Amino acid sequence: MILNCALDGPGGAGKSTIAREVAKRLGIVYVDTGALYRTLALNCLRKGIEISSEDRVIESLADANIELSYLDGAQRVLLNGEDVSLQIRTAEISMAASSVSAIPRVREHLIDMQRDIAAKNSCIMDGRDIGTVILPNADVKIFLTASPEERARRRYKELCERNEAADYEVVLREINERDYNDSHRKTAPLRQAEDAVLIDTSGMGIEEAVESVISVIREKTDFFSDEPIAPAASRAVVSRPRVFFYGIIRWIVLIYFKLIYNFKLEGRQRLPQGGGYIIAPNHLHWADPLFVAVGIRCPSSYMAKESLFKIKPLVPLIKAFHAFPVKREQSDRSALMTAVSFISRGYNLTIFPEGTRSKDGRLGRGKSGVAFIASESGADVIPVGIRIEKKKWHRKYVTVEYGSSIPNSELKITGMSASQMRKARDLIMQRIGELSRNV
Ligand code: C5P
Repeated sequence: MILNCALDGPGGAGKSTIAREVAKRLGIVYVDTGALYRTLALNCLRKGIEISSEDRVIESLADANIELSYLDGAQRVLLNGEDVSLQIRTAEISMAASSVSAIPRVREHLIDMQRDIAAKNSCIMDGRDIGTVILPNADVKIFLTASPEERARRRYKELCERNEAADYEVVLREINERDYNDSHRKTAPLRQAEDAVLIDTSGMGIEEAVESVISVIREKTDFFSDEPIAPAASRAVVSRPRVFFYGIIRWIVLIYFKLIYNFKLEGRQRLPQGGGYIIAPNHLHWADPLFVAVGIRCPSSYMAKESLFKIKPLVPLIKAFHAFPVKREQSDRSALMTAVSFISRGYNLTIFPEGTRSKDGRLGRGKSGVAFIASESGADVIPVGIRIEKKKWHRKYVTVEYGSSIPNSELKITGMSASQMRKARDLIMQRIGELSRNV
């Protein structure tokens, strides 16, 4: 399931701090849409364009290429390739962004970009018109507010902490001015959507506000459902013709591997019947996905690094193997959810918990994505050890050993707690280590 949470409210209500923390705890993307308007405002100021001149601001859109990227969960905004994430955080830009954002063409210009992010990612998106205009069908809508005085106090404290000159009265005046601009403009004014839940953070600490937002998400969606999608036995099964043709290809590849790599499969008797399992091997060689697949009857889906999908001739082949892209440098929740959906359709999922090939042959620590998928899908995990020995003439001897499956209940993941995820991951990695003789 892709979760879209719209978080609207006036400036200074704590949206960004709270949304960032909520996103971190839920493993979803935090999208700060104010940064888009700020960046367009920065572009105008840099070019000496009068913000009050609507036509010139609209003209400036043509050569302002804005991109959002995410590094370790943090949003970076790029203006024509330059990272301007810090430059857009001044009081001058705040006021200019408020004016620029009142221009209908400017808003139109940014709509598709925001909707596109939400269509592809589970996210909490903060702004002014997310619940009313950008994502009218969001799963959850929250309107976060606080009194102007409280917001001015917070902002003033923040400026003092950064050793920036600040005057409480000026800060309060600017907040009132921005509120007025944002809620009185003709296009997409700041207002609470009818189906949004109001949270007033006046007098609340950050933790309390974060908890309030999470509890609304818990109440309104089944995002936190601890129930597995379906017990493995009752899941869909992959069609017989598909398994048959897959079987023929598997045998051809197996014979080839036997000739080239003196290839051995061990522990096949431990493999459960049917599909719907997570297969978790160590990763040593580019052909590991095939080494593991040739011993298993049911076809598997795979996570593949996003860059492979840019090599056009490879794409049909990758897709034929039910591979889907994953962004490796971030927690890519939509890829994780695609993985869950393959499992629920009766496919196995092969995931290399280390994320990348081992450079020195040793087993890495592993990432928690595998535990997350196990938790969301309810699937059991089959640890697999791949062992590669170099013998005479540099010939490689490859052995794949399938371990006994780890029942989902043994992973003891009952919620979204990071420490449970880590423990489950560690258990899986330990079992892989035993099989790859590489603890
Ligand atoms: O949220 P932030 O203070 O960074 O937003 C800067 C300005 O951008 C706001 O004052 C508002 O005028 C505008 N904005 C908007 N719609 C959004 C997000 C921000 O109009 N979705």
